[in-house]
Amino acid sequence: MPLNILIIGAGCAGPVFAHLLQKAEPKHTITVIERSPSLRTGGQQLDFKENGIPIARGMGILDTLKAACVHETGMQLVDQKGRSLMQFGVNSSAKQGLNLTNEYEIMRGDMVKVFYDSSIAERRKIEASGEKEGGLTYKFDTTVTHLDQSGKGATVTFSNGEKAHYDLVVAADGQNSRTRRMVFGDEVNAKCFMNMGVHAAYFDIPRLESEDSNARIMFAPGSRMIMTRTGDRPITQVYLFLMKNKERHERMKAVHRQPLEKQKEAWAEIFENTGWDSKRFIEGMRTTDDFYAHEVGQVHMPQLYNGRVVLLGDAGYCPSPFTGMGTTLSLVGSYILAGELAKHGNDVDGALQAYHDLMQEPLEKYQKLSTGGTESNFYPASQLGITIANSVLWILSSLKIDKMILWVGGLLPEKKDAYVLPVYPELSLDYGEKV
Ligand SMILES: Cc1cc2nc3c(=O)[nH]c(=O)nc-3n(C[C@H](O)[C@H](O)[C@H](O)COP(=O)(O)OP(=O)(O)OC[C@H]3O[C@@H](n4cnc5c(N)ncnc54)[C@H](O)[C@@H]3O)c2cc1C
Repeated sequence: MPLNILIIGAGCAGPVFAHLLQKAEPKHTITVIERSPSLRTGGQQLDFKENGIPIARGMGILDTLKAACVHETGMQLVDQKGRSLMQFGVNSSAKQGLNLTNEYEIMRGDMVKVFYDSSIAERRKIEASGEKEGGLTYKFDTTVTHLDQSGKGATVTFSNGEKAHYDLVVAADGQNSRTRRMVFGDEVNAKCFMNMGVHAAYFDIPRLESEDSNARIMFAPGSRMIMTRTGDRPITQVYLFLMKNKERHERMKAVHRQPLEKQKEAWAEIFENTGWDSKRFIEGMRTTDDFYAHEVGQVHMPQLYNGRVVLLGDAGYCPSPFTGMGTTLSLVGSYILAGELAKHGNDVDGALQAYHDLMQEPLEKYQKLSTGGTESNFYPASQLGITIANSVLWILSSLKIDKMILWVGGLLPEKKDAYVLPVYPELSLDYGEKV
């Protein structure tokens, strides 16, 4: 039976799921709501890899994503004078986490646009084939104010006062999902966020002519880290990281709730005079429109659904940028949820339980952090610590033990046993080659 489905959030997961749902059943009626007045195309470079690749291929968007890729030469570790201490190369996308730079590196905005466009193109294809039932509608500037699950399905009240009933509500509204809090309650919502004591800010500034296409990382005293990425883009992406520091952690938690200008002030104060090009980065941050900051952490939910509301992507299992698996996991989640719904037909409840069960293996693999968490990760606090860190890393780099470096740096997880996707003929995907 075709379903009436509401997807909350048009980020990465929402549009991918809308696309896959239509592949399985063109008669579904799908509504995607987004809090922003238009598609949120902010954010920096994301990558997708491993099982994200056959899914994108099956959806027919791999070539479009490839064309949108940022071409980055590799990564350099620099000192506080901006001098290169070592260089790493580009990694093959088939493996997880041997290096920072992967084959499929795309600006978040470009990726979101590809996902959104592909979901609409899928609908056009369905309509062109003569199908009259079902549909796909995006509604911007819209949120949910109330959700009632007392009957079968969910009755939703929207921010414009309208009400509608859905067979299924999919919360794809990101790491700080309001839907998750609404449906699972404050206590579960608070408990599910595994804070890592790390805060991050991402923004764009104009690129200098002299900048090459390497990513650069610099550790600074006080457990601070700056990273830049330029690739072949006309902008310089700047990433500021604040590592473990209990006092500062409490302050930053409050900062994230403040207006953007106040947030920028706090980041500027902490990163001013850090060395390298910090003055330019901070000046650029003050005027950029594309600023995104958050508390880095993971979402671990005991159950991925409650009644007919199901969590998808970061809302259900944000793995944190430190795993490099956020987008891949949201593609895998969308694929399994769409696949199980297709497979279970009328049994939506059975499909949700199967989705929960089948997600446990990729979650266990993709959410795993290097060295079992950030406790033992290596973010030097003092100047002496940085000198030692840089020297150790230099020696390791000379020995070409890249994996070791990233394991020590806690930047990416250790290599895992490969996770094999279930195959869903019901999704009519053209994988091209074996999954
Ligand atoms: C603006 C932005 C910039 C980002 N930049 C980076 C980055 O530089 N690096 C990085 O690693 N990750 C970044 N992320 C997170 C990254 O996109 C996700 O980790 C990942 O791709 C999983 O996607 P998702 O769809 O689950 O969540 P997201 O991509 O976060 O998408 C969630 C969507 O839901 C919308 N939304 C939120 N609340 C509501 C609501 N109540 N009602 C309706 N819609 C709602 C949001 O506006 C957003 O469009 C960014 C996210 C956003 C929103």
